Amino acid sequence: TPLSHIRNFSIIAHIDHGKSTLADRLIQVTGGLTEREMSEQVLDNMDIEKERGITIKAQTVRLNYTAKNGETYELNLMDTPGHVDFAYEVSRSLAACEGALLVVDAAQGVEAQTLANVYQSIEHNHEIVPVLNKIDLPAADVDKVKMEIEDIIGLPADEAVLTSAKSGIGIEEVLEAVVARIPPPQGDRDAPLKAMLVDSWYDPYLGVVILVRVISGTLKKGQRVKFMAQGTEHLIDRVGCMRPKIEQLEQLAAGEIGFITAQIKEVSQTAVGDTITTVKNGATEALPGFKEVQSVVFCGLFPVDAADFEKLRESISKLRLNDASFTFEMESSAALGQGFRCGFLGLLHLEIIQERLTREYDLDLITTAPSVVYKVVMTNGDEQFLHNPADMPDVVKIKDMEEPWIQAVIYCPDEYLGGILKLCQDRRGIQKNLTYVGDRAQVTYELPLNEVVFDFYDRLKSISRGYASFDYEQIGLRPGDLVKMNIMVNAEPVDALSMIVHRQAAESRGRHMCERLKDLIPRHLFKIPIQAAIGGKVIARETISAMRKDVTAKCYGGDISRKKKLLEKQKKGKAKMREYGSVSIPQEAFIAALRMG
Ligand code: GDP
Ligand code: MG
Repeated sequence: TPLSHIRNFSIIAHIDHGKSTLADRLIQVTGGLTEREMSEQVLDNMDIEKERGITIKAQTVRLNYTAKNGETYELNLMDTPGHVDFAYEVSRSLAACEGALLVVDAAQGVEAQTLANVYQSIEHNHEIVPVLNKIDLPAADVDKVKMEIEDIIGLPADEAVLTSAKSGIGIEEVLEAVVARIPPPQGDRDAPLKAMLVDSWYDPYLGVVILVRVISGTLKKGQRVKFMAQGTEHLIDRVGCMRPKIEQLEQLAAGEIGFITAQIKEVSQTAVGDTITTVKNGATEALPGFKEVQSVVFCGLFPVDAADFEKLRESISKLRLNDASFTFEMESSAALGQGFRCGFLGLLHLEIIQERLTREYDLDLITTAPSVVYKVVMTNGDEQFLHNPADMPDVVKIKDMEEPWIQAVIYCPDEYLGGILKLCQDRRGIQKNLTYVGDRAQVTYELPLNEVVFDFYDRLKSISRGYASFDYEQIGLRPGDLVKMNIMVNAEPVDALSMIVHRQAAESRGRHMCERLKDLIPRHLFKIPIQAAIGGKVIARETISAMRKDVTAKCYGGDISRKKKLLEKQKKGKAKMREYGSVSIPQEAFIAALRMG
């Protein structure tokens, strides 16, 4: 296809504003899908994606559209991941396009994530076409949302396209706007090959499939190519596009988006953002913007039943086949047994993997408290990075510690602002900006990531009744007064419960955990102290009193029903007991303590 007849675009939208529904409609109208196939959302192809309404792995489709001017165009629609954890993948998808459809729910208006994506899109010099979706809803307020787009985003909205993706209104208009308003790609097709690796995934039939945008030159079947950042060479055995069904092609020329396969076994052999060129007469300079992905949040994953360890190992390895952005290594804990220490791009990424292991692989798992990556400067000048409290060096050897900070943008209706400001303040936040648009506040905070991984989203959602949206970017490391807090049962530290916390937050977290354990650990014939300590200093304590011989259920302190359940399980012989200084603790107690977050 000549460059003048190609349009590459993505759809940006806040979650639930209708991105997937619109994409499916565009595919349907241009003939890629039948009505029946339409009924299953095509672009979100995993269960969890469907349920949570987020897109985890990007999928791209090629549409042929004959416009009102009689010309036929090749439209490449790039679906981008819908969450901040995947910001780098999003940036590469955007870099592969010349324009974007900005889908805004006409009843909800502009949200924080809309904004973040729009700014990124503008940074990539995209032509942005506003689309007001869900105009079929009685609550739709087109004029108000147009005003918001102009005031908040600064885009002219008078030419916004009005759609109902659900009922199929305005779809032709969207396609016409794509052709008329989004510029065609540029690129010298006779120059040496440069193709950007946008995404990759594992397909059981094809092996690793790589999504590319050809920037210059031509990518052909049978070519020997080099992945410049990775430093590896491969033979291209397939070239094609998705409509959304796979169609094989002979080549992809500059300006085009499509996929290749090259007998690659694992997605970890492909790096998003890498430049693909030919081995012979290849490009000498890679495309700008390559970044290696790095895990931001870590936690331990343990099977509840130790017998499931091998199954967990297999399942994790399988998941990793399709997601090179999480890491894992073996970890063993006295309280929880054998498991894995895993690294993720962010909290949502962690949740997704955890959920897939539970659901798709039918594993019962226990997750330890998430940790960020700290930098430790030792008194002897050495530096190390730390993401597991278990590896924390002796305090006397530590000179300084640094922790990652983020800049967060929270967007919420005015009435919830007070509670949100307090939450951010409690989490050591530094307010940077506060602006209003109508009755909505947009507040910018700098926050330690450590405070955000600890139930921040949940609190934010409950304070705002789900109306606040949250978006963040990392802004680097800053010194912090961080300490390792141990939880001790009968004077013995319990490894799975230790955590790295800010000194100020230690006492309340410690107290919280002690109270919880008091409820969860069954009484013994002697008193059991439960303590939270920093180094040798106890900062919180609870005591489980001794059990009298004639004990009956009503004598138990704490949460009776929970304790009863524990005891019942114990009776069935299911419980795995751990000994802590002659105290027997059912493993369920740890699990419950950790699960309560
Ligand atoms: P995404 O998260 O942006 O991909 O949003 P989806 O396409 O998954 O849509 C979210 C929800 O909004 C789904 O329940 C859709 O059926 C619904 N939806 C999408 N478009 C429309 C529309 O035009 N009108 C109405 N009433 N609902 C819509
Ligand atoms: Mg979607």
